[in-house]
Amino acid sequence: MAGYTPMIQQYLAIKEQAKDAFLFFRLGDFYEMFFEDAVTAARELEITLTGRDGGGSEKIPMCGVPYHSADNYIAKLVDKGYKVAICEQVEDPGAAKGVVRREIVRVITPGTVMETKSLPDSSNNFIVALAAGDGSGYGLAACDLSTGELYVTSVAASLEALLDEANVYRPSELIGPAKLLEQIRRIASWNRPVLLTPREHTAADKLEEQFGSGQLAELSADRLAAVGILTGYLEETQKRSLGHVRAVRSYETHQYMVLDHYTRRNLELTETVRDRSKKGSLLWLLDRTQTSMGARLLRRWIDKPLLDAAAIEARLEAVDTLYRNLILRDDMRAELKQIYDLERLVGRVAFGSANGRDLNALKSSLERVPQLSALAAASGSATMERLVAGVDGCADLAEAIATVIVDEPPVSIREGGLIRSGYDSYLDQLREASTNGKKWLAELERKEREATGIKSLKIGYNKVFGYYLEVTKANLHMLPEGRYERKQTLASAERFVTPELKEKERLILEAEEKMVDIEYEKFVELREYIAGHLHRLQKLAETIAELDVYQSLALVSAERRYVRPSVSGGYDLHIQDGRHPVVEAVMDGTPFIANGASLTKDGRSMLLITGPNMAGKSTYMRQVALIVIMAQIGCFVPAKSAEIPLVDRIFTRIGAADDLIGGQSTFMVEMKDIQLMTERATRNSLVIIDELGRGTSTSEGMAIAQAVIEHVHHHIGCKALVSTHFHELSHLEESLPSLANVCMAVEESGDNVTFLRKLIPGAASTSYGIYCARLAGLPDSVIGRAYELLEGLEQSANALQKPGSAAPQDARSGEVSGEPAARESAASAAVRESSAPSGSADRQADSAG
Ligand code: ADP
Repeated sequence: MAGYTPMIQQYLAIKEQAKDAFLFFRLGDFYEMFFEDAVTAARELEITLTGRDGGGSEKIPMCGVPYHSADNYIAKLVDKGYKVAICEQVEDPGAAKGVVRREIVRVITPGTVMETKSLPDSSNNFIVALAAGDGSGYGLAACDLSTGELYVTSVAASLEALLDEANVYRPSELIGPAKLLEQIRRIASWNRPVLLTPREHTAADKLEEQFGSGQLAELSADRLAAVGILTGYLEETQKRSLGHVRAVRSYETHQYMVLDHYTRRNLELTETVRDRSKKGSLLWLLDRTQTSMGARLLRRWIDKPLLDAAAIEARLEAVDTLYRNLILRDDMRAELKQIYDLERLVGRVAFGSANGRDLNALKSSLERVPQLSALAAASGSATMERLVAGVDGCADLAEAIATVIVDEPPVSIREGGLIRSGYDSYLDQLREASTNGKKWLAELERKEREATGIKSLKIGYNKVFGYYLEVTKANLHMLPEGRYERKQTLASAERFVTPELKEKERLILEAEEKMVDIEYEKFVELREYIAGHLHRLQKLAETIAELDVYQSLALVSAERRYVRPSVSGGYDLHIQDGRHPVVEAVMDGTPFIANGASLTKDGRSMLLITGPNMAGKSTYMRQVALIVIMAQIGCFVPAKSAEIPLVDRIFTRIGAADDLIGGQSTFMVEMKDIQLMTERATRNSLVIIDELGRGTSTSEGMAIAQAVIEHVHHHIGCKALVSTHFHELSHLEESLPSLANVCMAVEESGDNVTFLRKLIPGAASTSYGIYCARLAGLPDSVIGRAYELLEGLEQSANALQKPGSAAPQDARSGEVSGEPAARESAASAAVRESSAPSGSADRQADSAG
């Protein structure tokens, strides 16, 4: 540090406390960055890098952003996954001896950002804290600082399960012990930037103060550790009380359907696989919520389908009522539309960043509550009646705001104009003094014009000289010598003051300054008063959000003619004429072909689906999974009728090339997924595997497929849908009593194939891969040769191993796609190519068919 100026020395000392953040160092009207920070920030923010003499031998790299527009730059950095430490001057520069004292007042991180610019309305922004418990498992605490929600759970000793649970929250930041984060980093594949912040220590001593001993007593050690890490981090970064993060919602992962990361993605529950947009996802389809709170709650419901039949029934009952009662639904929607984001408003109140407009938004939202709850109370739905019974509408808080804040307050809370007259008598007096003072000025102007005969004489004001009397040069001769005191000479006029004017000026300015101070004081008083009632507002917000979700589900269900599923704890699943909700919704014109499903304990619980590419196999399988999920979140389903058993876990393996994570082949990913399934699936799970066994040689693929099917059949006994292009596997139906062959009907006429999209019993006769190749324009000689080879292969396939016996040893070696085994014949390789499940040939086939 030797040689640096005192200010740079101060900078370096403070930077020590924020090594992993950009230090925004306040210098007058700018936040400046120095050294490495400046170099990186200049690049990331596209601002000019300059240099500054800092006493060292070389200039110090520097860049800066203006204080008043800093929010935009901070948002940019935080969105990119960086942290920003805000360092302010904490003493009056005028009063300071030497360098002004500065301190970090807050660290803004991706997981703790409160600024609206960086927060999407309809989704939460979670920070997730992880802790390794005392050997038996992990603790997880997920917090959205902008709304004050805090969810806590434990995950048994598998890192994958921990990651799955953490992923449910789509965290923007993960914190926890460095070792644990490192393990997580190695197995994770994020599809968005996630900042990993190592943190070991917990804030055990502060916990009781924050959450109360009652809530803490119920938490296991691992959960407590996670909450401790989280609280410590929030305290360290936010440096203020977090009055809205008080309620700990502790849950067990087995209370909800388990959906691993891949399954969520494959089923496109909240975003599409292709471009990760909400549009095209189940959430997109179901989201007709009117409030942001409702939108976020719906997302959470989709993230966590229920496993409790009574709770599902309760939701369905509310949806049913609103489904049938269009007028009620419309009335509720109209009320909800006028309600602002209470949760985030509450967050800002707690954080001390709410302004007059925020409080008025809170007020006008609260004013809708009586009508909204009256609608719910009279709805005839037991669920909604229960929900609003004794609801605390916080009318007193709305009233308090209405008496204090004017109808249209300014954005700033430090410039006055916020507080209603009649609220504070001292403020009223000051206002009167100021108004009277101004009247007095007007009167003075009138009197002096009369006395001097100068019609253009006027009273003006500027910041340097205060109030003055102004007389133009042309009229100066009319002014009696010594009448006023000369103050300022301009080119065309002279400005004067009088002792009387100066005295009034003092009173007026004093009053105005005091007014601004008092208004600020009164405003903060009100804000703090409301902050004392946050839990009431949060509870109300939850109620409103729930009503909003019910109307949203009911509206979509009614518009799309869904039916109420019956949900039970049994095994059997029956869907009559089911549809894929999203595919149906985006189809223009062409009707969606409905297909049923019956998976039963005593009949068939597994379907082996064959049929050509593009026939509709994967659409069908996804549709079954989506209908189950919709039922278990309490929504109506796209079908003629549906009986849905409680499914504890949906496991999907739906091949998509973009699943590839760092250097792993599709085949390897598939095998890992299958491994996970064999380990975790229970009898009550639903397993969906698309194109089982692709990506390796035909014989190996087929062998693995058969072995997996047998394993699910014999050892798991769950409901399963498996599609394959190995129609040779259809013989399994004979030996596996719970398995049935089905296929997608295809109509052939002459050279043409038409996809009927209809599921029918039996196995498809051929995979039509060669047919697709012909449509794609491959030479006739190649096509002819392929048919010839296929015939030969099919004959030898019939001689394949009989079911029940062990799969060949080499099937487990996990051969990687694209590297055919040396054993594989040229002929089988040719067939593998021609019947590859996806490729441009197939797409052309579809458009032709
Ligand atoms: P596969 O898995 O057999 O290759 P897909 O399920 O991907 O086929 O379906 C291909 C396309 O066919 C889908 O993108 C969809 O547009 C259409 N499709 C699928 N099922 C149906 C159906 N039941 N009714 C109408 N169109 C369908």
